[in-house]
Amino acid sequence: MSRESEVIESCPTGLFVGGEWRAAEGGRTFGVEDPSTGATLCDVADASPADGKAALDAAVAAQAEWAAHPPRERGEILRRTYELMTSRVDDLALLMTLEMGKPVAESRTEVAYAAEFFRWFAEEAVRIGGDYTTAPSGKGRVLVMRQPVGPCLLITPWNFPAAMGARKIGPAVAAGCTMVMKPAGQTPLSMLMLASLLAEAGLPPGVLNVITTSDSGGVMEPLIKDPRARKLSFTGSTEVGRRLLAQASDQVLRTSMELGGNAPLVVFGDADLDAAVDGAMIAKMRNIGEACTAANRMYVHSSVMEEFARRLADRMGALTIGRGTEDGVEVGPLIDAKQRDKVAGLVDDAVARGARVLTGGKVADGNGYFYPPTVLADVPRDARVQSEEIFGPVAPLTSFDTDDEAVALANHTEFGLVSYVFTADLNRALRVCERLETGMIGLNQGMVSNPAAPFGGVKQSGLGREGGRVGIDEYLETKYVAVAL
Ligand code: NAP
Repeated sequence: MSRESEVIESCPTGLFVGGEWRAAEGGRTFGVEDPSTGATLCDVADASPADGKAALDAAVAAQAEWAAHPPRERGEILRRTYELMTSRVDDLALLMTLEMGKPVAESRTEVAYAAEFFRWFAEEAVRIGGDYTTAPSGKGRVLVMRQPVGPCLLITPWNFPAAMGARKIGPAVAAGCTMVMKPAGQTPLSMLMLASLLAEAGLPPGVLNVITTSDSGGVMEPLIKDPRARKLSFTGSTEVGRRLLAQASDQVLRTSMELGGNAPLVVFGDADLDAAVDGAMIAKMRNIGEACTAANRMYVHSSVMEEFARRLADRMGALTIGRGTEDGVEVGPLIDAKQRDKVAGLVDDAVARGARVLTGGKVADGNGYFYPPTVLADVPRDARVQSEEIFGPVAPLTSFDTDDEAVALANHTEFGLVSYVFTADLNRALRVCERLETGMIGLNQGMVSNPAAPFGGVKQSGLGREGGRVGIDEYLETKYVAVAL
């Protein structure tokens, strides 16, 4: 048996409910595809609304006992999960590449990143504090305690199949919440494997329940409207996020929303161009451009545009495209034909409006959903790439002349997840950072993701933060007791 088949065989494919693996109602399944070939890797259970309800039943049944579980033990389960992931990184990375397409080296980085969330929240589990103060009058006391929110519904996207889930499960476990997790239909395997590692690490039955389904709306809406659910944490597109917020409003469900991005990357005339090109490569090409944090629009000062464009096009054009499992491959396929055609359509639109193709720009022949790294110069401001999330390896360049113009261009979007700024001038850097309307900024670097930092957006990029000191707050309620003393 090949190593790929072995890894697929080792992955559970059922629903994980109440600590047991089970088939979906009626034995229904759906296929998981390898985006580099279009071939089916395996079939996984296709949950019905009744299966979804059973998962929530299990989470509700486990909640009280889990909330009372010693924080140190909750932390130790997370720590053991971190260690298991680290020791099995090769298998986890291969599985991720097979279902999602990114090169194995990038999958290994994601597994390490995901594992770090478990290590971080293992440490936070024992630091959930409260407050006890004397009322200003001196006559009473203010007692503030923090308690788990209760059963949570977690929904994650396909682009980071392990990390987006770990960023929710880690703090939920640390805080003492139980959960129903629904991974993306296109990449359920990494989450199913992760669930088996959490069980192996000692997570009690019912704390984490995982359901896979081809009918996300039909299965999740009744759960979002079920009064026993106390929290919805969603990572995905702004379009679906808006719909889920509307559903959550029925019972004023607490929500965290990590939504779409349209990140500007701004290179000022005084920037260190080596750092700017390196940063642009990471901000653009991490995850084949299929990242909410991907640099979507690059604004470059006119004095350095020519050199920056040439250097970026040289680097992008030299990348090796292929199946992510092969040695030396730096760019895998996009997730599906729809995504590849969307990227191609955005490039064609920009070119039709006057953009110049410096490298790439044409769909590759053959199997799989490949699109070549592409750099576009002179992209007009009305091109669709300036306002729509590309989610592919395309870098649109537009020049600017003044700081005010750069900030106005960067902020001209309903999204506000992240921006990138390259400048050697500290005053300019701080002035610009203060004016940018994004939840995160990469200053002279092309990457912001860090389990120890608060990740999240403003405007239509979302609500709440994941990771960092505040990440656990999303899973805690604050209760105040007015004490007569
Ligand atoms: P998506 O289409 O919004 O799907 C995200 C998740 O929601 C999937 O599990 C999907 O299930 C599920 N879903 C879809 N419709 C639903 C419904 N009506 N009810 C309940 N669940 C539903 O997004 P995607 O294409 O997977 O991911 C790409 C998007 O995620 C991009 O916009 C990206 O920017 C964003 N993202 C944001 C962050 C962040 O931290 N801000 C991080 C990563 C990605 P199915 O797979 O079954 O459709």
